Amino acid sequence: MSDPLQILRETFGFAAFRGVQEQVIDRVMAGKHTLAVMPTGAGKSLCYQVPAIARPGTALVISPLIALMHDQIRSASAFGIQAASLTSADDEADRRETLARLQRGDLDLLYVAPERASTGGFRALAERVPFSLIAIDEAHCVSEWGHDFRPDYRMLKPLLDAFPDVPRLALTATADRQTRADILVQLGIPEDGLILAGFDRPNIRYHVRPRDGVPQQLKALLAEQPGPGIVYVPSRDKADKLAEQLGGNGRRALPYHAGLDARVRAANQKIFVAADGAEGTVMVATIAFGMGIDKPDVRFVAHAGLPKSIEAYYQETGRAGRDGDPAEAWLFWGANDFSRARRRIEAEVPEDRRPGERQRLNALAALVETASCRRAILLRHFGETPPESCGNCDNCLAPPATIDATEAARKLLSAAFRTEMRFGIQHLTDVLAGRETDKVLGFGHHRLSVFGVANEEELALVKPVARALIARDALRPDDYGGLSFGPGARPILRGEEKVELVVPPKRQRRARAGREANPEGDPLFEALRACRRDLAKEAGMPPYVVFHDSTLREMAALKPASLTALGRVSGVGAAKLERYGPAFVEVIRAHDEAA
Ligand code: ADP
Ligand code: ZN
Repeated sequence: MSDPLQILRETFGFAAFRGVQEQVIDRVMAGKHTLAVMPTGAGKSLCYQVPAIARPGTALVISPLIALMHDQIRSASAFGIQAASLTSADDEADRRETLARLQRGDLDLLYVAPERASTGGFRALAERVPFSLIAIDEAHCVSEWGHDFRPDYRMLKPLLDAFPDVPRLALTATADRQTRADILVQLGIPEDGLILAGFDRPNIRYHVRPRDGVPQQLKALLAEQPGPGIVYVPSRDKADKLAEQLGGNGRRALPYHAGLDARVRAANQKIFVAADGAEGTVMVATIAFGMGIDKPDVRFVAHAGLPKSIEAYYQETGRAGRDGDPAEAWLFWGANDFSRARRRIEAEVPEDRRPGERQRLNALAALVETASCRRAILLRHFGETPPESCGNCDNCLAPPATIDATEAARKLLSAAFRTEMRFGIQHLTDVLAGRETDKVLGFGHHRLSVFGVANEEELALVKPVARALIARDALRPDDYGGLSFGPGARPILRGEEKVELVVPPKRQRRARAGREANPEGDPLFEALRACRRDLAKEAGMPPYVVFHDSTLREMAALKPASLTALGRVSGVGAAKLERYGPAFVEVIRAHDEAA
């Protein structure tokens, strides 16, 4: 079998290539070197798996993490692809068997870590087996510009150059212009070999809200949002605490952070990966959790604090909805996220890197404060020119009102200035309101010109205004909450800059994504899910390796009563049909008889 489309249909059971897949595969089939930058969920693995089957020889796949390799092998094997790895974790017997399969020409895919691939011993082995292609996964690791630089990736070039006729396929989900250029040079890929799929993740719905009692906000979210999800928190403490607060109500919430015992961490991850139902497990994690997790049915990612940068936000939220089904991203931010980050920059970051870091933070401020499309801001950040409105973010779905709060902002800034910039929001509010508290009288602040200058309306705005001013570095809180001026203060005081506030619409029930959502509670769907769970458990694999939700949905809708009919369902390839088909047909028959 050497026709890619035929392989896609027969081995994978998919009807058509998606996005740039075909373009990438065509190049590999033609023996050309390629760098494919494709967002998470775009189907990168298929880009080397299909040519690996179509071309003679074994495809060598360079991958940075053993866990990642094992997931890939498990998923490839479920499709009937012959895949194995050579890693430091293998015992001698595994190693010998893999080498034997390799030398017999029985392997479609061989996964190897970069530090092994660059050794002389591996080169000697490579001389003896024909490679169909060399795929370099997570290729941004080759670049110092990238966010996960791995020096071992730099050592790959001699191996690649030893096989100039074997097509190279570098793959990554995140690479800015500099990183891309670097990958091309480091891996010897021509400039016209770059294929960019664009950054958009259309099935992810973005929401951003000011933080206001985050445990309650998250509980409300969980009450409406079924399925497995990740909540990112800024510290280990918070992970433990929030996991405890969110658990219960039929929903399991588990902590994950570097401070946990390795066994506990592994166990929690295993439970999370296996979660498949509406009640799906919630992982409350620091950013230690993520890389190497390719669970496709994560239905939401929530941030309980500000991410480090737009890039980090994009990557972390990108873990939702890899399967293409609707998914949600929620960000809850507070003014102190910004003040803390700004303080850190001034105190800990070397001077020459501060402007860049400030810019990073300002980009986040723009994202959280905007009244316009969130997706447009993200995509513009990555150099794209998206439409003004995406129709699938909070601001596009329910456009918020904006109010001009410049006057209130100027009064707040004046109050901070007149009180010598050492008081917090409560005291400043008292001064602006004209309240004769002990503290006001004690400091003589009732004699200031700003005493009592704010009207009711402006007083109601003091808190959101302070949040906005802190986010844009016009006000800076010290360790005790005392507010002083940042560089953004003067232009506002001088009337050169306006302060607009976004007023989020009152809590509305979220329009649940209709068409593609799982028919939770539908007896046949639930029976299929139970069947999947049993088969997965038996095989010691997560349920999604057996079939994705979308495949079960299609089965529940079409009710195929024979293996032939089942084979036409998307995601049911030849190997899965043979292995799992009879069990599912049986479930469908039993359901029909009962009905
Ligand atoms: P990435 O590595 O780019 O995040 P994956 O390779 O894990 O993405 O693919 C994401 C999911 O999409 C996988 O479950 C895969 O089976 C599925 N998929 C990939 N290509 C297609 C296609 N052409 N049609 C249907 N599903 C596909
Ligand atoms: Zn939008």
